[in-house]
Amino acid sequence: MIRELTHYIGGKPVAGTSGQFGPVYDPSAGQEQARVPLASRAEVADAVAAAAAAQPAWARLNPQRRARVLARFIELVRAEKDSLARLLASEHGKTIPDAHGDIERGLDVMEFATGIPHLLKGEYSDAVGTGIDVYSMRQPLGVVAGITPFNFPAMIPLWKAGPALACGNAFVLKPSERDPSVPLRLAELFEEAGLPPGVFSVVNGDKIAVDALLTDPRIQAVGFVGSSDIAQYVYATAAAHGKRAQCFGGAKNHLVIMPDADLDQAVEALVGAGYGSAGERCMAISVAVPVGEATADALVERLAERVRALRIGPSFDEATEVGPLVSAAAVARVRDYIRSGVDEGARLVVDGHENPLAGTEHGHGFYLGASLFDRVTPAMRIYREEIFGPVVSVVRAADYEEALQLPSQHEYGNGVAIFTRDGSIARDFTHRVNTGMVGVNVPIPVPIAYHTFGGWKRSGFGDLNQHGPDSIRFYTKTKTVTSRWPDVSVREQASFVIPTMK
Ligand code: NAD
Repeated sequence: MIRELTHYIGGKPVAGTSGQFGPVYDPSAGQEQARVPLASRAEVADAVAAAAAAQPAWARLNPQRRARVLARFIELVRAEKDSLARLLASEHGKTIPDAHGDIERGLDVMEFATGIPHLLKGEYSDAVGTGIDVYSMRQPLGVVAGITPFNFPAMIPLWKAGPALACGNAFVLKPSERDPSVPLRLAELFEEAGLPPGVFSVVNGDKIAVDALLTDPRIQAVGFVGSSDIAQYVYATAAAHGKRAQCFGGAKNHLVIMPDADLDQAVEALVGAGYGSAGERCMAISVAVPVGEATADALVERLAERVRALRIGPSFDEATEVGPLVSAAAVARVRDYIRSGVDEGARLVVDGHENPLAGTEHGHGFYLGASLFDRVTPAMRIYREEIFGPVVSVVRAADYEEALQLPSQHEYGNGVAIFTRDGSIARDFTHRVNTGMVGVNVPIPVPIAYHTFGGWKRSGFGDLNQHGPDSIRFYTKTKTVTSRWPDVSVREQASFVIPTMK
């Protein structure tokens, strides 16, 4: 039976009224399992109105009491993590342990956000003039919106909502229409944790819902994560409507392997970071850059062996290392890239374009084998564009300098990694490479919650990163007060020049 999902507005599930629905699939089975309502502008306006009504009282609550609501929410999520992870995997296709990781990395940021009484402290300068003190405080923006992608349906909504709510904002989430059930459940858990109705809402939908949020004058800020063209569109449209925006986009993450690297470690890192979650991670490694022909030959040989042995299967099967892709369209898109790589002359060392489960009971799932290309060049489409699937391209570099320039000159600049035992090379690389996040012998350098996450170039539009101290800056505005109390011993006359520190 196909379930019918809802929105979550003003503290309760609300049925869609637009008459428009989108399918939600179970990628492991390749079957539609639910229908998600696609909101009209009027339904989005209802969610924004509920948020605007609830926000002032939430902002007035002292920060410690707001933090306590978040702390209770964290406990509730942890208490039902197993069922949440199964729900997440059933709509996304990632394995159950990986779905646990999705939820845990989201909770990391919620935990960071419970430190809000400390994080919100302002600045104070005593006696900057006779009897004059200056202080600044951080105030919430009001109602803010989050627009999130399919590939981390728990983590990314929580990365945005945690700091936003802690700072005293109300939050309207427009999650991906491909896996909306976990965000809907999170909304119920917020409510159970004591969040006042309307402070966190979920409106499901597509471009119509997004445009309604981007043009609503009551929305003060928009946090977006998704593909780069949409990120740029959201950034420009939000800015044109006077909103603050931070929009994170696609990626092409390189992993450089120096001749002195521990090759076994590099191969294991590449297999996990390249093919984990079927390559559907913005921090997935999609390009391996071995330095020197000998390193390249050894790497490709060992990697190919490991890639051929990957266990591909349903997300709920404990033996599965790599689950299905999110949709049939994603499978078709990745197959098209594999064909284009072959047409443009790359060497397809491991060909994963077939469904490895074809003919079995799971044969209708959205499965692809893992693919490995060697002798890829920067001119090829499979190098220039984000594939977002289980495909790794090997680009051979003659020397360190060439390896450094590849990620630095790529139009994306999310993450990058270098594997080496040489500290001076690692230091030079971390300082000079032109990307936002760098790993040294770490393949997926997603920063911990109390640092910030953000890519450069076409991987990120806006000037503040996600989570960490930047998230507090993004979700608050600074007010600065210059104050003097009447002092009977001082009698001043009107001055017609700008005050200076004489
Ligand atoms: P997507 O761009 O298709 O969708 C993201 C969001 O935008 C969804 O909520 C979707 O409903 C909405 N959207 C889609 N088309 C739209 C349009 N024309 N106008 C307005 N809104 C629209 O991305 P996706 O396929 O869900 O996610 C995968 C992408 O996200 C990849 O490119 C991946 O690299 C990127 N991503 C980036 C990060 C990061 O931090 N940089 C993290 C995760 C994912």
